[in-house]
Amino acid sequence: MRCLALDIGGTKIASAIVSGNQVTQRQQIHTPQQNVAEAMHQTLAKLLSDYAGQFDYVAVASTGIINKGILTALNPKNLGGLAYFPLKQSLSQHTSKPVYLLNDAQAATYAEYQRQDKKSLQNFAFITVSTGVGGGLILNRQLLTEPNGIAGHIGHTVADPNGPVCGCGRVGCVEAIASGRAIEAVSKQWDDPCDPKEVFARFRKTDEKATALVSRSAKAIANLVADLVIGMDVQQVVIGGSVGLAEGYLPLVKQYLAQMPEIYRCPLEAAQLGQDAGLIGAAAWALTQWHD
Ligand SMILES: [Zn+2]
Repeated sequence: MRCLALDIGGTKIASAIVSGNQVTQRQQIHTPQQNVAEAMHQTLAKLLSDYAGQFDYVAVASTGIINKGILTALNPKNLGGLAYFPLKQSLSQHTSKPVYLLNDAQAATYAEYQRQDKKSLQNFAFITVSTGVGGGLILNRQLLTEPNGIAGHIGHTVADPNGPVCGCGRVGCVEAIASGRAIEAVSKQWDDPCDPKEVFARFRKTDEKATALVSRSAKAIANLVADLVIGMDVQQVVIGGSVGLAEGYLPLVKQYLAQMPEIYRCPLEAAQLGQDAGLIGAAAWALTQWHD
Protein backbone atom coordinates (compact mmCIF):
# COMPACT_ATOMS: atom_id res chain seq x y z
CA MET A 1 0.00 0.00 0.00
CA ARG A 2 1.33 3.39 -0.97
CA CYS A 3 0.57 6.30 1.30
CA LEU A 4 0.68 9.98 0.52
CA ALA A 5 1.87 11.22 3.91
CA LEU A 6 1.78 14.87 4.94
CA ASP A 7 3.35 16.43 8.01
CA ILE A 8 1.83 19.86 8.62
CA GLY A 9 3.80 22.04 11.02
CA GLY A 10 3.57 25.70 11.97
CA THR A 11 6.34 26.71 9.58
CA LYS A 12 6.67 23.85 7.06
CA ILE A 13 4.70 21.12 5.36
CA ALA A 14 6.55 17.92 4.44
CA SER A 15 5.07 15.41 2.01
CA ALA A 16 6.21 12.06 0.67
CA ILE A 17 5.12 8.70 -0.62
CA VAL A 18 5.55 6.20 2.21
CA SER A 19 5.46 2.47 1.61
CA GLY A 20 6.45 0.33 4.58
CA ASN A 21 9.16 2.45 6.16
CA GLN A 22 10.45 3.68 2.79
CA VAL A 23 10.08 7.44 2.29
CA THR A 24 10.36 8.59 -1.32
CA GLN A 25 9.59 11.74 -3.31
CA ARG A 26 9.92 13.90 -0.23
CA GLN A 27 9.05 17.57 -0.68
CA GLN A 28 9.03 20.39 1.81
CA ILE A 29 7.26 23.73 1.46
CA HIS A 30 6.49 26.65 3.77
CA THR A 31 3.19 26.60 5.67
CA PRO A 32 1.05 29.51 4.40
CA GLN A 33 1.36 32.52 6.68
CA GLN A 34 -1.07 34.90 4.95
CA ASN A 35 -4.75 34.36 4.07
CA VAL A 36 -3.98 31.10 5.75
CA ALA A 37 -7.26 29.19 5.38
CA GLU A 38 -7.65 29.89 1.66
CA ALA A 39 -3.93 29.36 1.02
CA MET A 40 -4.03 26.06 2.93
CA HIS A 41 -6.94 24.79 0.79
CA GLN A 42 -4.90 25.61 -2.34
CA THR A 43 -1.69 24.10 -0.97
CA LEU A 44 -3.42 20.81 -0.12
CA ALA A 45 -5.13 20.66 -3.52
CA LYS A 46 -1.76 21.19 -5.23
CA LEU A 47 -0.05 18.48 -3.17
CA LEU A 48 -2.79 15.97 -4.00
CA SER A 49 -2.45 16.79 -7.69
CA ASP A 50 1.39 16.60 -7.56
CA TYR A 51 1.18 13.03 -6.28
CA ALA A 52 -1.93 12.00 -8.25
CA GLY A 53 -2.04 8.31 -9.22
CA GLN A 54 0.82 7.40 -6.87
CA PHE A 55 -1.02 6.60 -3.62
CA ASP A 56 -3.77 4.37 -2.21
CA TYR A 57 -4.55 6.46 0.85
CA VAL A 58 -3.65 9.76 2.53
CA ALA A 59 -2.30 10.09 6.09
CA VAL A 60 -1.74 13.44 7.76
CA ALA A 61 0.30 14.26 10.85
CA SER A 62 -0.54 17.79 11.90
CA THR A 63 0.41 20.31 14.52
CA GLY A 64 -2.36 21.13 17.00
CA ILE A 65 -5.29 18.89 17.86
CA ILE A 66 -7.11 16.88 15.23
CA ASN A 67 -10.65 16.50 16.49
CA LYS A 68 -12.91 14.58 14.11
CA GLY A 69 -10.99 15.82 11.09
CA ILE A 70 -10.89 19.44 12.19
CA LEU A 71 -7.70 21.26 13.16
CA THR A 72 -7.77 22.99 16.51
CA ALA A 73 -5.39 23.53 19.46
CA LEU A 74 -5.37 23.70 23.25
CA ASN A 75 -5.49 27.45 22.69
CA PRO A 76 -7.09 27.87 19.22
CA LYS A 77 -5.98 31.54 19.13
CA ASN A 78 -2.41 30.25 18.60
CA LEU A 79 -3.48 28.87 15.21
CA GLY A 80 -4.66 32.26 13.93
CA GLY A 81 -6.63 31.84 10.70
CA LEU A 82 -6.19 28.05 10.76
CA ALA A 83 -8.22 27.60 13.96
CA TYR A 84 -11.02 25.10 13.24
CA PHE A 85 -9.68 24.46 9.73
CA PRO A 86 -11.60 21.50 8.15
CA LEU A 87 -8.48 19.54 7.22
CA LYS A 88 -10.16 16.25 6.36
CA GLN A 89 -12.88 17.86 4.28
CA SER A 90 -10.36 20.03 2.43
CA LEU A 91 -8.36 16.94 1.40
CA SER A 92 -11.37 14.76 0.63
CA GLN A 93 -12.62 17.32 -1.89
CA HIS A 94 -9.65 16.52 -4.11
CA THR A 95 -9.25 12.76 -3.75
CA SER A 96 -11.52 9.74 -3.61
CA LYS A 97 -8.91 7.83 -1.57
CA PRO A 98 -9.38 7.40 2.19
CA VAL A 99 -7.93 10.17 4.37
CA TYR A 100 -6.66 9.66 7.95
CA LEU A 101 -5.46 12.35 10.32
CA LEU A 102 -3.76 12.61 13.68
CA ASN A 103 -1.58 14.95 15.70
CA ASP A 104 2.11 15.09 14.65
CA ALA A 105 3.53 14.04 18.02
CA GLN A 106 1.05 11.16 18.17
CA ALA A 107 2.28 10.10 14.71
CA ALA A 108 5.92 10.27 15.82
CA THR A 109 5.00 8.22 18.90
CA TYR A 110 3.52 5.51 16.73
CA ALA A 111 6.60 5.49 14.48
CA GLU A 112 9.03 5.21 17.41
CA TYR A 113 6.88 2.48 19.00
CA GLN A 114 7.15 0.37 15.83
CA ARG A 115 10.91 0.18 16.43
CA GLN A 116 10.47 -1.16 19.95
CA ASP A 117 9.95 -4.72 21.11
CA LYS A 118 6.15 -4.51 21.09
CA LYS A 119 5.77 -7.93 22.69
CA SER A 120 7.32 -6.79 25.93
CA LEU A 121 6.22 -3.13 25.76
CA GLN A 122 2.54 -2.70 26.49
CA ASN A 123 2.69 0.94 27.59
CA PHE A 124 5.01 3.44 25.95
CA ALA A 125 5.40 7.20 25.68
CA PHE A 126 7.21 9.61 23.40
CA ILE A 127 8.14 13.12 24.51
CA THR A 128 9.37 15.75 22.07
CA VAL A 129 11.16 18.68 23.68
CA SER A 130 11.49 21.28 20.98
CA THR A 131 10.02 24.79 20.51
CA GLY A 132 7.18 23.35 22.60
CA VAL A 133 6.81 20.08 24.51
CA GLY A 134 4.56 17.43 22.96
CA GLY A 135 4.11 13.72 23.11
CA GLY A 136 2.03 10.67 22.61
CA LEU A 137 0.90 7.63 24.56
CA ILE A 138 0.62 3.98 23.70
CA LEU A 139 -1.53 2.10 26.22
CA ASN A 140 -2.22 -1.61 25.80
CA ARG A 141 -0.26 -1.36 22.52
CA GLN A 142 -2.77 1.15 21.10
CA LEU A 143 -1.99 4.77 20.24
CA LEU A 144 -4.39 7.05 22.11
CA THR A 145 -6.07 9.50 19.72
CA GLU A 146 -9.74 9.32 20.67
CA PRO A 147 -12.22 10.70 21.58
CA ASN A 148 -11.12 14.33 21.11
CA GLY A 149 -7.56 14.10 19.80
CA ILE A 150 -6.12 15.50 23.03
CA ALA A 151 -4.24 12.47 24.40
CA GLY A 152 -0.49 12.97 24.61
CA HIS A 153 -0.51 16.72 25.19
CA ILE A 154 1.66 15.92 28.21
CA GLY A 155 3.68 19.12 27.85
CA HIS A 156 0.68 20.78 29.45
CA THR A 157 0.78 18.92 32.72
CA VAL A 158 2.07 21.10 35.55
CA ALA A 159 5.76 21.31 36.40
CA ASP A 160 5.58 24.31 38.74
CA PRO A 161 2.31 25.87 39.96
CA ASN A 162 4.23 29.10 40.58
CA GLY A 163 5.89 29.02 37.17
CA PRO A 164 5.30 31.19 34.09
CA VAL A 165 2.00 31.27 32.19
CA CYS A 166 2.02 28.78 29.33
CA GLY A 167 0.91 29.49 25.75
CA CYS A 168 -2.15 27.30 26.42
CA GLY A 169 -3.29 29.66 29.17
CA ARG A 170 -2.48 27.43 32.15
CA VAL A 171 0.14 28.41 34.75
CA GLY A 172 3.36 26.45 35.10
CA CYS A 173 3.06 23.78 32.41
CA VAL A 174 6.07 21.59 31.62
CA GLU A 175 6.21 23.40 28.26
CA ALA A 176 6.51 26.78 30.03
CA ILE A 177 9.60 25.49 31.88
CA ALA A 178 11.28 22.94 29.62
CA SER A 179 10.71 23.94 25.99
CA GLY A 180 13.09 25.75 23.68
CA ARG A 181 10.73 28.74 23.84
CA ALA A 182 10.86 28.69 27.66
CA ILE A 183 14.66 28.48 27.61
CA GLU A 184 14.83 31.42 25.20
CA ALA A 185 12.42 33.49 27.32
CA VAL A 186 15.04 33.39 30.07
CA SER A 187 18.26 33.49 28.02
CA LYS A 188 17.22 36.54 26.01
CA GLN A 189 16.93 38.50 29.29
CA TRP A 190 20.52 37.79 30.28
CA ASP A 191 23.17 40.54 30.26
CA ASP A 192 24.77 38.47 27.49
CA PRO A 193 21.56 37.32 25.74
CA CYS A 194 21.55 34.31 23.46
CA ASP A 195 19.36 31.77 21.67
CA PRO A 196 18.72 28.19 22.89
CA LYS A 197 21.44 26.78 20.61
CA GLU A 198 23.99 29.02 22.28
CA VAL A 199 22.56 28.15 25.72
CA PHE A 200 23.47 24.53 24.97
CA ALA A 201 26.94 25.51 23.72
CA ARG A 202 27.53 27.37 27.00
CA PHE A 203 26.04 24.47 29.00
CA ARG A 204 28.60 22.14 27.43
CA LYS A 205 31.33 24.57 28.52
CA THR A 206 29.80 24.32 32.05
CA ASP A 207 28.70 27.96 32.15
CA GLU A 208 26.78 28.31 35.41
CA LYS A 209 23.68 30.18 34.19
CA ALA A 210 23.29 27.99 31.11
CA THR A 211 23.70 24.84 33.19
CA ALA A 212 21.02 25.98 35.63
CA LEU A 213 18.62 26.76 32.78
CA VAL A 214 19.16 23.45 30.94
CA SER A 215 18.94 21.59 34.26
CA ARG A 216 15.59 23.23 35.06
CA SER A 217 14.29 21.92 31.73
CA ALA A 218 15.75 18.42 32.18
CA LYS A 219 14.37 18.17 35.71
CA ALA A 220 10.86 19.06 34.50
CA ILE A 221 11.10 16.33 31.83
CA ALA A 222 12.38 13.79 34.38
CA ASN A 223 9.39 14.58 36.57
CA LEU A 224 7.08 14.22 33.57
CA VAL A 225 8.55 10.78 32.89
CA ALA A 226 8.04 9.83 36.55
CA ASP A 227 4.41 11.00 36.35
CA LEU A 228 3.85 8.83 33.26
CA VAL A 229 5.38 5.82 34.97
CA ILE A 230 3.39 6.18 38.17
CA GLY A 231 0.16 7.24 36.47
CA MET A 232 0.04 4.83 33.55
CA ASP A 233 2.67 2.16 34.14
CA VAL A 234 4.63 3.43 31.13
CA GLN A 235 7.52 0.99 30.59
CA GLN A 236 9.72 2.95 28.19
CA VAL A 237 10.02 6.61 27.13
CA VAL A 238 11.66 7.87 23.96
CA ILE A 239 12.73 11.52 23.90
CA GLY A 240 13.10 13.56 20.73
CA GLY A 241 13.03 17.16 19.52
CA SER A 242 15.79 19.73 19.06
CA VAL A 243 16.19 20.26 22.83
CA GLY A 244 15.59 16.61 23.71
CA LEU A 245 18.30 15.45 21.31
CA ALA A 246 20.77 18.25 22.10
CA GLU A 247 24.10 16.81 23.21
CA GLY A 248 24.20 16.31 26.97
CA TYR A 249 20.46 16.74 27.55
CA LEU A 250 19.25 13.14 27.78
CA PRO A 251 22.00 12.12 30.25
CA LEU A 252 20.86 14.98 32.47
CA VAL A 253 17.22 13.82 32.34
CA LYS A 254 18.43 10.31 33.20
CA GLN A 255 20.44 11.70 36.10
CA TYR A 256 17.39 13.45 37.59
CA LEU A 257 15.21 10.39 37.06
CA ALA A 258 17.81 8.21 38.79
CA GLN A 259 17.47 10.38 41.91
CA MET A 260 13.81 9.40 42.29
CA PRO A 261 12.53 6.28 44.05
CA GLU A 262 12.88 3.27 41.81
CA ILE A 263 9.15 2.79 41.19
CA TYR A 264 9.13 6.12 39.26
CA ARG A 265 11.85 5.12 36.81
CA CYS A 266 11.81 3.56 33.38
CA PRO A 267 14.36 3.24 30.57
CA LEU A 268 14.88 6.40 28.49
CA GLU A 269 16.09 6.38 24.92
CA ALA A 270 16.78 8.98 22.22
CA ALA A 271 14.37 9.15 19.25
CA GLN A 272 15.80 7.51 16.13
CA LEU A 273 13.55 8.52 13.26
CA GLY A 274 14.28 12.23 13.06
CA GLN A 275 12.39 14.47 10.68
CA ASP A 276 10.51 11.64 8.95
CA ALA A 277 8.91 10.28 12.14
CA GLY A 278 5.61 12.09 11.53
CA LEU A 279 5.35 10.88 7.92
CA ILE A 280 6.25 7.27 8.74
CA GLY A 281 4.06 7.17 11.84
CA ALA A 282 1.00 8.65 10.14
CA ALA A 283 1.31 6.21 7.24
CA ALA A 284 1.64 3.18 9.54
CA TRP A 285 -1.07 4.24 11.99
CA ALA A 286 -3.56 4.95 9.18
CA LEU A 287 -3.31 1.30 8.09
CA THR A 288 -4.53 0.25 11.54
CA GLN A 289 -7.60 2.47 11.05
CA TRP A 290 -8.42 1.23 7.55
CA HIS A 291 -11.20 -1.21 8.44
CA ASP A 292 -12.52 0.55 11.55
ZN1 LIG B 1 0.35 24.64 28.71
